Amino acid sequence: MSINKGTLTLARYFDSRFVLSRSVSTAHGTLKQIFPDKKLTSHADWHKFSVEQPEEFWGGVARSSLKWMVPFQKAMNCDMKKGQFEWFQNGKINASVNCIDRHVEVDPERIALIWEKDEPGTEEKITYRSLFQMTNQIANLLRRHNVKKGDVVALYMPVSPLAVASMLACSRIGAIHNVIFAGFSADAIATRVQDCNAVVLITADEGVRGGKTIPLKQTVDKALGRCPSVKNVFVMRRTGAEVPMATNHFYFQDLMEQEKSECAPESMQSEDSLFLLYTSGSTGKPKGLVHSTGGYLTYAGFTHKTAFNYQVGDIFGCVADIGWVTGHTYVVYGPLLNGGASVLFESTPTYPDPGRYWETVERLKISQFYGAPTAIRLLLRYEESFVNKYDRSSLQTLGSVGEPINVEAWEWFNDLVGEGRCDLVDTWWQSETGGICLTPRPSEEEAEILPGKPMRPMFGIEPTLFDEKGNVLTGKGDLNGSLCLKTPWPGMARTIFGDHERYVNTYFKPYPGYFFTGDGGHRDPKGYWQITGRMDDVINVTGHRLGTAEVEDVLDEHHDVAEAAVVGFPHPIKGEGVYAYVVLKEHVDTEREVMLGQLREMVKKGISGFAVPDHIQFCSGLPKTRSGKIMRRILRQVAANNQDNLGDISTLADPGVVDEIVKNHEELQ
Ligand code: ATP
Ligand code: MG
Repeated sequence: MSINKGTLTLARYFDSRFVLSRSVSTAHGTLKQIFPDKKLTSHADWHKFSVEQPEEFWGGVARSSLKWMVPFQKAMNCDMKKGQFEWFQNGKINASVNCIDRHVEVDPERIALIWEKDEPGTEEKITYRSLFQMTNQIANLLRRHNVKKGDVVALYMPVSPLAVASMLACSRIGAIHNVIFAGFSADAIATRVQDCNAVVLITADEGVRGGKTIPLKQTVDKALGRCPSVKNVFVMRRTGAEVPMATNHFYFQDLMEQEKSECAPESMQSEDSLFLLYTSGSTGKPKGLVHSTGGYLTYAGFTHKTAFNYQVGDIFGCVADIGWVTGHTYVVYGPLLNGGASVLFESTPTYPDPGRYWETVERLKISQFYGAPTAIRLLLRYEESFVNKYDRSSLQTLGSVGEPINVEAWEWFNDLVGEGRCDLVDTWWQSETGGICLTPRPSEEEAEILPGKPMRPMFGIEPTLFDEKGNVLTGKGDLNGSLCLKTPWPGMARTIFGDHERYVNTYFKPYPGYFFTGDGGHRDPKGYWQITGRMDDVINVTGHRLGTAEVEDVLDEHHDVAEAAVVGFPHPIKGEGVYAYVVLKEHVDTEREVMLGQLREMVKKGISGFAVPDHIQFCSGLPKTRSGKIMRRILRQVAANNQDNLGDISTLADPGVVDEIVKNHEELQ
């Protein structure tokens, strides 16, 4: 049998029960307000309108949801073939005004940020008025230190109100922020700062995570010798630890206090850059993606509101770090554009114990909880009481992002955490797309949500699949191929900093006229979408195309397995062989030989004989990026006996894991 990717998943998804949501999205209500003359009723009609008339659609959204200093004249001027995009031509706008000033005018005492600090129960609430004050003081401070419109400011800071205010302060004066995850090494800081020529670096004395301090300033000091563009360093006091200060290093809060709390916002062209951000580096050297102002803000605000059904008064809890795009769009910009209250989560999912997320949900009364499958897979190893003992009745929507969410993790999240009464939305998107592109919501009359699938395209998004020969796949059956997006949308990144050619070659050359995502997609006969993994994760075993995620899904279902990663390796007879890395749950004492037999049997039954792994390695952890994604390219190299050539591992979270899997691999041979 030649199994086409998705056959198994389809069968399994269809006999799973589906969830009917109680609180259906108000996306259509929003759209009706923006377009009162459109007599559209069904979701399909609204979506059709958004992709067939993107200029009218996004023009309407941008005009009604943002405050423009000078109205734009033409909503779009885009060329997918050339990779050239212009949204909201000649419009002038300031991001910080839209995120803060508008709300201060109507409700200054409303909570903007809740800083959920590492120690439970020590949260700090920041009103829009005080966010305004901090942001303006920092903006004045940056201006005083000669930061000009178009300059890049690097941030290497803990998740904190001052970090958010620093991002917004940059936007206030037209500087471009570049947030570097405050866990990266000195080398990673140096390469990123050198790449973008940042003139200022803002950091903290130390970070605090999981009860441990992280020497941020010390790490910055190690990098600075290689960062000649940096003229000044500002140091936020987080723990108050003594750190060495050079003559151009200043304590941030001390200087801020001396600044006025009003700073005239810069009037920015819609296409001016708002920020640049390096990708996770899962597939290679991180790319410094550049996002625009008007287009990004339009997409961030709109998707935040519609994908999560966000209403003012809700407490939005996205636990991503601000160092990733999820932190940019759904911790900072999306919630603040919508006048919301956003949680800044400084801690880890297991500090002080694996109940931390749910204890936080209870204490802060979080309405939308948005996290990553890697954390869910970690938490489901522990007893259910870590979830059950907390009141989660405030939750309405649960969200997942970053990697495919396997069915077991989806069900644990949905049934246990969400008590089966919340919408659980798997959201697919990328640093490149600026915001969510596939998600079960918004859809008013179609309430069905299936496990582990992002299902429906966001308004304005038109997913398309290509086969290996470069033909568009059409028809109503099961389709599997290379996922591309056809219609331009305002949130898309405009270039790779300093390397426009790489941008065009990576995203627009492979399928002319389309944006190439690099991911594989599956569309089922009902028209629902699923991500099958990265395109490089589809392997060919004795002529059968096999998505490695599919094998992982089966292995993950074994009750003793916490996490699994599957890769292909060159095989003299089969073309490619299947190599599985398996992490077991805590306290598993089943014999390894017995377990191997069970796992092989499960794959054989669940998929087919050809998919049974040639090698199964048990390991204590998987190599992951600092954003928690499995770095399959390292696993591929090890499986192929190329352990001396692992490529760029600068974004690897725990290099020790690699030594272990190399050693285990050598023992398996
Ligand atoms: P790099 O581009 O440097 O290799 P990266 O792709 O991991 O790194 P991000 O932009 O942070 O960097 O991640 C986007 C990718 O994450 C997507 O292309 C996809 O492979 C994966 N992803 C994100 N959300 C989902 C999801 N809901 N389901 C499946 N995959 C997802
Ligand atoms: Mg990517």
